[in-house]
Amino acid sequence: MFKKILVANRGEIAVRIIRACKEMKIATVAIYSEADKNSLHMRLADEAICVGPPASRESYLNMPNIISAATITGAEAIHPGYGYFSENAGFAEACEACNIKFIGPKANAIELMGDKARAKDTAAKAGVPVIPGSKGIIQSEQEAFKTASKMGYPVRLKATAGGGGRGIRVVHSQDDLSSQLRIATTEAESAFGNGELYMEKEIEEPRHIEVQIIGDEHGHYVHLGERECSIQRRNQKLIEEAPSVAVTPAIRNKMGEAAVKLAKAVGYSSVGTVEYLLDKNGDFYFMEMNTRVQVEHPVTEFVTGVDIVKEQIRVAAGEKLSVTQKDIKIDGHAIECRIIAEDPSRNFAPCVGTIRHMAAPGGIGVRLDTHIYGGYEIPPYYDAMIAKLIVWGKDRNEAIARMMRCLAEYEIDGITTNISYQMEILSNPYFKKGELSTSFIPRRMNGG
Ligand code: ADP
Ligand code: ADP
Ligand code: MG
Repeated sequence: MFKKILVANRGEIAVRIIRACKEMKIATVAIYSEADKNSLHMRLADEAICVGPPASRESYLNMPNIISAATITGAEAIHPGYGYFSENAGFAEACEACNIKFIGPKANAIELMGDKARAKDTAAKAGVPVIPGSKGIIQSEQEAFKTASKMGYPVRLKATAGGGGRGIRVVHSQDDLSSQLRIATTEAESAFGNGELYMEKEIEEPRHIEVQIIGDEHGHYVHLGERECSIQRRNQKLIEEAPSVAVTPAIRNKMGEAAVKLAKAVGYSSVGTVEYLLDKNGDFYFMEMNTRVQVEHPVTEFVTGVDIVKEQIRVAAGEKLSVTQKDIKIDGHAIECRIIAEDPSRNFAPCVGTIRHMAAPGGIGVRLDTHIYGGYEIPPYYDAMIAKLIVWGKDRNEAIARMMRCLAEYEIDGITTNISYQMEILSNPYFKKGELSTSFIPRRMNGG
């Protein structure tokens, strides 16, 4: 097992990884930017190294500085968390070249899945159903018109390098296609440094269902069942739960087996998530694979008892999976709410400022993953998510009641958060009935 790991991230996920390392008796190195001098992740780690100025490009995305920090401190492995370098094949290669283990899949698996258009092709070849659309990247406007009129509108334009809900545009009619193509290309170029787009048929009011998988370097694979992430705003997840009320044991098996088939096809050896859309007929389609630990991994940990981050570290060290498919049982129900520093009354504009006071919810079946504390100043440079509140209940109703109690208990003074908005979603009768779709917010919420 590794003796020392460098955590190349910040915020709640850096804290989450450092906690796993501590329990595994692995020493930790935190990196931080000049704006994160008072952050919890650097306080919890055994060592901390400043890697640059506040802007992510100069610190958390500063490859030479991060690799040097690992070399100087003698870290044998780097955990990238999510976002930043987690899905960057070049970074994984740079680690290997410097004899540092990248805690994630091999660079070629990241490459195969990171390009979303190519990933669909790989999935289709592995026998996994995919969303109908363009054959790979859109090569010309003419081709785009042909594909769209063949499938029928609406269609979706997606950046092949996209992620985090960005780089996606819905096109409702032929009249809009050529202008949307131009805008989407420019946006993708500036956001991801790659303007290539692909096209998909718009699935009507689908559910977002994803399957957690883990593979080791000895060819063993398990899936840990599904998460439902249909509650989204602007293609970004807000609430996630496990299991999904829409997934029968038969669908779960099919989705899980398809995810494992794809992982095998690319020689995947880490934790990863295969994302699907599930339509009203119970048919599911591959959307993309995230080759990293996901924000919402705790709901799966609650219902399976598997510590996903520890397992990820173990398989990176060359150990065999500690569980087999037979060991995986889904127990009870878990829900996660993403707590975001934003103002629901001002169109969810991000808020910054100092947390004057904080009182955390607790009690049976409650987990709070966060990097904030009383007195903490939220820097304006990074993601606005400040905490993840996760609860477990013996069934979905108990989980909802528990989440409502916890949201009401949670006191954060000094900044505005989306806690009240989360309570509105949870008390919506359609949410309670489990009638979810990715259109839930525009269709079921006021001002959505
Ligand atoms: P990202 O890489 O940003 O996560 P995804 O391809 O996973 O992008 O899509 C993000 C979200 O956009 C999905 O969860 C879903 O809500 C919506 N979406 C994506 N593709 C389609 C589609 N073809 N039809 C309907 N909704 C879609
Ligand atoms: P998950 O699928 O784990 O829910 P998200 O899609 O919400 O993850 O993204 C997790 C984090 O990573 C977010 O902070 C998001 O902004 C960031 N992220 C994901 N993909 C990209 C990308 N291609 N470029 C930049 N940031 C990304
Ligand atoms: Mg996605």
